[in-house]
Amino acid sequence: MYDRVQDEDRNQNIVAAILNNLPSESEITKIEYEGPFIVLYSRKPTTLLENQEIISKMVNTIKKRIVIRTDTSIRSSEDSVKQIIRSSTAYPNTISEIFFDSALGEATIFVKDFRTLTELSQLEIPLVEKTGWKLIYRYVRSDLKPIRFMNQILHNSSEERMYFYKRVGEKIFRQKLAGSEEASIVCLGGFSEIGRSAMLIVTHESKIILDFGIKSYHHEDNDILPRLDIYGIGMNEIDAVIISHAHLDHCGAVPILCKYGYDGPVYCTEPTFPIMISILQDYASKTKEVLYSSRDIERLITQVIPLNFGAVTDISPDVRITFANSGHMIGSASTHMHIGNGDYNILYTGDLKFGRLNTVDNAFWNFPRAETLVIESTNGNRDDRFVTREVAEENLVKSINSTIQDGGRILIPIPVLGLSQEICVTLGMLRSINKINPENIFVDQKILDIFFFYEMYSEYLSKILKQRISERTEDPLYINSLVSLEPYVNWNGSIILCPSSMLTDGPSITYLNQIASDPLSKVILLSEQFQSTPGRLLQEGQRNITIGGNNLEVKCNIDVIPGFSMHSDYNQLLAYINRLKPKLKKVITNHGEGKKCQNLSNSINKIFKVQSFHPLVQESIKVL
Ligand SMILES: [Zn+2]
Repeated sequence: MYDRVQDEDRNQNIVAAILNNLPSESEITKIEYEGPFIVLYSRKPTTLLENQEIISKMVNTIKKRIVIRTDTSIRSSEDSVKQIIRSSTAYPNTISEIFFDSALGEATIFVKDFRTLTELSQLEIPLVEKTGWKLIYRYVRSDLKPIRFMNQILHNSSEERMYFYKRVGEKIFRQKLAGSEEASIVCLGGFSEIGRSAMLIVTHESKIILDFGIKSYHHEDNDILPRLDIYGIGMNEIDAVIISHAHLDHCGAVPILCKYGYDGPVYCTEPTFPIMISILQDYASKTKEVLYSSRDIERLITQVIPLNFGAVTDISPDVRITFANSGHMIGSASTHMHIGNGDYNILYTGDLKFGRLNTVDNAFWNFPRAETLVIESTNGNRDDRFVTREVAEENLVKSINSTIQDGGRILIPIPVLGLSQEICVTLGMLRSINKINPENIFVDQKILDIFFFYEMYSEYLSKILKQRISERTEDPLYINSLVSLEPYVNWNGSIILCPSSMLTDGPSITYLNQIASDPLSKVILLSEQFQSTPGRLLQEGQRNITIGGNNLEVKCNIDVIPGFSMHSDYNQLLAYINRLKPKLKKVITNHGEGKKCQNLSNSINKIFKVQSFHPLVQESIKVL
């Protein structure tokens, strides 16, 4: 065992530094840990809100993240806050709901109208003064159903969460161990395969899990879960779980950790939090194998600590993380980990798009330091090169128009999250400039539901969409004309977008059955089709397939249009590495089928003259 370093004065020093920098008018009542933050409770929070430079100076001195919270003694009752807010706007009916999180002293005000949003944001400081609550404003046009359940859990667990934040904070800011720094990456899942992405970072001081996904597609084998069992680790030894984005192959197994007693923090970005929860609920409700219950998901909700892009955050005594946009879908993050004081840095790309999309901006690449890079390899083969997005859109336009002119119907099988919203926005955009003119674009309700989060977290969208929102353009996301897909719909001359993307289950099978015998109609495949799925067989030219247990002769057209991937192609992966400024020492490839991880690793080694690895699940690599 190591001896604890003698720095018991450290915490007192932090408190002293804070108190020395604060004006006495701010009436600080308490200084406490709240997860990775140091929280100052104030009876006069407006003096600090008006002088943000005081806080910035303090953060620079103590190198910790500081949050200002209102002291509980000044917080008005929920009813009077509602009254104050409603009477402060000329359009009180546009306030749909106010959610109170008493664990954090935050009130989130959901408004349906931009005028109200602007009006209330301008009154921020006087309203904090009047209400005694920290106020957050969110623009949401529709009903709040998608987050009501989550807010209810957060509301009911506020006392428990206050204790949780304090406990997590004390663990993060615990005294450091003496001894030299070290770091290893243990491959738990998603190495030389796709699905169940997970790795364990073991340092001298901490154990951190990065992603904890599930193989939700085509699992002939039973290896659908990450192999945490091989490491023989107790749940109480894990310092933190970090989730890169809300796809099941990255977050699908997290509730299992909670089920088996993990009670520490789960970090992800703000949009990933509610999207992940709704995707997990959907998965838990329809899966046959009972891996976890809704209770485990409820527990997870109380353990999530959302972080913004770019915020440097301590998550253990020797690990600091920063999230950056990975360009793959709303809220998707690359994780930059700074280890120890020796300035060693690991960059995990997560799912990466280094190229143009309509819904999110290109991946962030401007990291000051990185010695080890873990990079995804979905398109790791040299021939995984796609046409440009512009050409792909032209191809899609031609394909749609020829079928609509012939009087046919078009089915686009698509996953629920990510690519589907990208395609909805793209089709809406193409229709708005009259490039395509189908009778209707019918979209599965589950896909449309996700737009709730796109509106709510619009600051995470692409510059183009954000600009349309800030200019208050009518229909900024191009989705107003999309029609929810109802059963028995008449879809002559129309397009249907629905899951599943590989025609393995879900409504896409029903609609394929309706057009299979019609040579004028068409299926357009835009997403990757995994081996031996019906989608892959159609892509390969087979026309007699077994689908949902029945034989089907497919006479309609099948168009495969590449170039819409939410992952980088081979050239984009290499361009990303080329763009990174720091000199890499090691590159590890993951998240790629078959030999793709190996091929990408070999190419990187040859082109960039850097040590590269393509490990298998259960292997581990010492990086420091
Ligand atoms: Zn993904």
